[in-house]
Amino acid sequence: MENCIFCKIIAGEIPSNKVYEDEDMLAFRDINPQAKVHVLVVPKSHFATLAEMSEAQSELVRKCLVKIPAIAASLGLADGYRLIVNQGKDAGQTVHHLHIHILGGQNMGEKML
Ligand code: AMP
Repeated sequence: MENCIFCKIIAGEIPSNKVYEDEDMLAFRDINPQAKVHVLVVPKSHFATLAEMSEAQSELVRKCLVKIPAIAASLGLADGYRLIVNQGKDAGQTVHHLHIHILGGQNMGEKML
């Protein structure tokens, strides 16, 4: 997708600090971390929100979710982590390519879940 920063990262046109990659997904460190560990897991297919997701894309999201425990373990998040998937304007979604935030490396507290 033209002008999508995450598509450009997936294509290698913009550098990223990769933590995991396979044919279905890319995981890289967030450029503006909101926790000691902040990684984004991005399916390699462009769609903005769950509402726009096709059946094939839902399979990619399933694969991302299945892989996240291993990614989290590789990041040293043995004591847990938080997942966030912002959907649209009110959620503050700024990049319109679906992505799953992994936040951890510290006690996340109970604010906002
Ligand atoms: P969201 O607000 O859910 O759309 O999250 C988008 C996230 O992408 C934000 O946490 C940004 O800091 C992050 N981000 C934007 N550009 C980059 C980039 N080039 N590399 C890594 N993370 C980025």
